[in-house]
Amino acid sequence: MSKRIVVVGGDAAGMSAASQAKRRGGADVEVIALERGRHTSYAACGIPYWVGGDVADAESLVARSPEAHRANGIDVRMATEALEVDLAGSVVVARGPSGAERIGYDELVLATGAHPVRPPLPGIDSAGVYGVATLDDGQALTGGLAGLRPDAGADRGRAVVVGGGYIGIEMAEALRKRGLAVTLVDALDEPMTTLDPDMGALVHRAMETMGIQVRTATAVTGILTDASGRARAVATADGEIPADLVVLGIGVRPTSELATRAGLAVGPSGGIRTDLRMRVVGQEHVWAAGDCVESFDRVSTSWVHVPLGTHANKQGRVVGINLTGGYATFPGVVRTAVSKVCDLEIARTGLREVDAAAAGFAHVAVTVRSTTRAGYYPGAAPVTVKMLAERGSGRLLGVQIVGREGSAKRIDACAVALWNRMTVEEMTGLDLGYAPPFSPVWDPVLIAARKAVDALAAAR
Ligand SMILES: Cc1cc2nc3c(=O)[nH]c(=O)nc-3n(C[C@H](O)[C@H](O)[C@H](O)COP(=O)(O)OP(=O)(O)OC[C@H]3O[C@@H](n4cnc5c(N)ncnc54)[C@H](O)[C@@H]3O)c2cc1C
Repeated sequence: MSKRIVVVGGDAAGMSAASQAKRRGGADVEVIALERGRHTSYAACGIPYWVGGDVADAESLVARSPEAHRANGIDVRMATEALEVDLAGSVVVARGPSGAERIGYDELVLATGAHPVRPPLPGIDSAGVYGVATLDDGQALTGGLAGLRPDAGADRGRAVVVGGGYIGIEMAEALRKRGLAVTLVDALDEPMTTLDPDMGALVHRAMETMGIQVRTATAVTGILTDASGRARAVATADGEIPADLVVLGIGVRPTSELATRAGLAVGPSGGIRTDLRMRVVGQEHVWAAGDCVESFDRVSTSWVHVPLGTHANKQGRVVGINLTGGYATFPGVVRTAVSKVCDLEIARTGLREVDAAAAGFAHVAVTVRSTTRAGYYPGAAPVTVKMLAERGSGRLLGVQIVGREGSAKRIDACAVALWNRMTVEEMTGLDLGYAPPFSPVWDPVLIAARKAVDALAAAR
């Protein structure tokens, strides 16, 4: 008899697990995937580029439709929400188009993702206030934009983006490209809090030169509505900011209510706790992957919530292999992330100064300003690299990069160095590629490593 695998959540993590299990297990496994939305295997990462007009339509963001998954032998059930998990009975209670049903499982995979934070502020659920997590959210937002006639110019629409994380800044760019006047509001001193504030300040300044207003240290106190109940302004401690539409970019939380109600282990972030094979801690037949889990941070050696598609896909694959007699682990993260706002590229890996302190590392931090190409080569543009190293050992702890085109992917070499616990001294000799169109003869990363070595010597 075949083993039945029930997957809850039909995007990156869930369908990676389902596809891998079906590919490996063939007729020996029956895979049922439940998705409460209208799409499977979609790239939420592409939503800002679709809203901004770089990507033609939502369909372009769908890697594999429900029909394509069914053709591969996966029983995908759309518009079907898992409501409860009965661990003792190995049953998922779900509600779909034909009503409620109880679905028994041999193995259960939770891949329920994450949802945008909606602080309990007056008016936060009004019409005209949008989160951006799913394609359905993107569709709602593009529908709202169509109503504003944004292509007619900035006076046709004013957008306020609440929160200056990477989704907030990507959405600010998208809305600007659609011709809206855009204000980004953040409660903290600088946007991009995945960076240290001194690097966030570079993002702040660059956004303002791109025509995006940035109001930092400004707490939003509510959304003001018109007579029809539609958002008309964002209220802050410093006054109102008029808005025809409001986008929330305050961050996301793991969607783990199903897991917590079932009594599964969750960490302080609310993310489900698993072992390195992605099996839920204390459970023989329950697995979890993607934005709903916590991951092991290899640098701070703590469990953290890092909701990124790159991890969701890998973790889902690991689950699929383990469910079909194989052995695979997800080795953890070093918190590498890249994003951009207009032509400014932003990257990070490892720990910020605040993280290093929290993890108990005494550290030095250095910042270098260089260029993306040889200074004499056309198109050479500024790049700033900040590097952290542990005092004493000299171990690399983290790198942040902000600069123009050609900056961000330099972070990958740093991520590999971090992953392999290299010292900044060792990094100074790295054999990185050089030719004038790609970097100065001393790559900015190598200059930063050299400067970090000097700072360590001075701190002795
Ligand atoms: C605007 C935006 C930009 C991004 N950019 C990047 C990027 O540049 N790089 C990067 O690495 N990551 C990026 N991400 C993050 C990336 O999209 C996520 O990490 C990834 O989608 C997580 O996949 P997942 O399968 O874990 O969760 P999700 O994609 O959230 O999917 C979970 C699915 O589960 C379904 N579901 C939840 N509960 C239930 C239930 N009870 N029953 C049935 N179905 C349920 C949901 O409807 C959803 O479809 C971005 C995200 C957004 C929103």
